[in-house]
Amino acid sequence: TKEDRLDEVRPQNPVKPMTATEIKVNVSIPEAAERAAQTGADGVGLLRMEHMILSTNETPEHYIENHGEDAYVDEIIRGVRGVADEFYPRPVRVRTLDAPTDEFRQLEGGEDEPHEHNPMLGYRGIRRSLDRPDVFAHELEAFRRLWDMGYDNVELMLPLVNDGEDVRRARTLMEEAGIDTEKRDWGVMVETPAAALTVESMIEQGIDFASFGTNDLTQYTLAVDRNNGNVADQFDELHPAVLELIAGVIGTCREHDVATSICGQAGSKPEMARFLVNEGVSSISANIDAVRDVQHEVKRIEQQLLLDSVR
Ligand code: PEP
Ligand code: MG
Repeated sequence: TKEDRLDEVRPQNPVKPMTATEIKVNVSIPEAAERAAQTGADGVGLLRMEHMILSTNETPEHYIENHGEDAYVDEIIRGVRGVADEFYPRPVRVRTLDAPTDEFRQLEGGEDEPHEHNPMLGYRGIRRSLDRPDVFAHELEAFRRLWDMGYDNVELMLPLVNDGEDVRRARTLMEEAGIDTEKRDWGVMVETPAAALTVESMIEQGIDFASFGTNDLTQYTLAVDRNNGNVADQFDELHPAVLELIAGVIGTCREHDVATSICGQAGSKPEMARFLVNEGVSSISANIDAVRDVQHEVKRIEQQLLLDSVR
């Protein structure tokens, strides 16, 4: 029909409001890049690396053993490029590998994964990367090569760090992989109360940004398992304790001119957007389907702030 044809040519996001706060989008699978870019988002706030690896149905160690190191690096480069091309020159924040051992166990090679009572409190994110610098080095190699190829819109983000010491060790490995950490944009996720309370020590290591992973930050602050239906009604990203941690980090980061953002699910909620914009967050990353509403909500909030300031 005519209506269908019109839908095809109509821009997906015809009235993107201008906001001082950047509104970005989360991308879990590289295949979603085109749809994500059509939202008119100012960049990608979180591109998860997991699916680039897990979609091969092998653990990283198993993949490297079977196909070689170069193939592993190429797999990551291919996944990131798909998104970085789609968004260029808008920034794409790529998070290094972060999957719990119970997810890895489903895969080929999963029988070698450690058995853990609490995988979410266990061997994942930066902990695994620092424990296996040989594997982490291949991820870093992918970043170095992407940057050498001219993808200066790629940024590197470290998951589940607890303090400046985690960041110092990761930065050392980045340097060893040939990455100029002064020149490149890299930062951390704030996903534990420890990270929120010690953000100053991470700033000392030279991070360019701190991004709230509110899925984990809420789970660890409230001691509420994010995957447990029995306590799902207590999983509250807007709990005063979570908000206080977030406000503290934004305040400290603003003093040091370090950017702040959110890339957890709560970034798609209007109430969280209101809170963050009032605190002075630099950017909000939302799910593809929520970007447009967040753009308009943030526009409203910013206009209100402006009105309040001249009254
Ligand atoms: C988070 O914890 O909020 C987050 C974005 O990371 P993930 O959901 O992958 O743990
Ligand atoms: Mg997380």
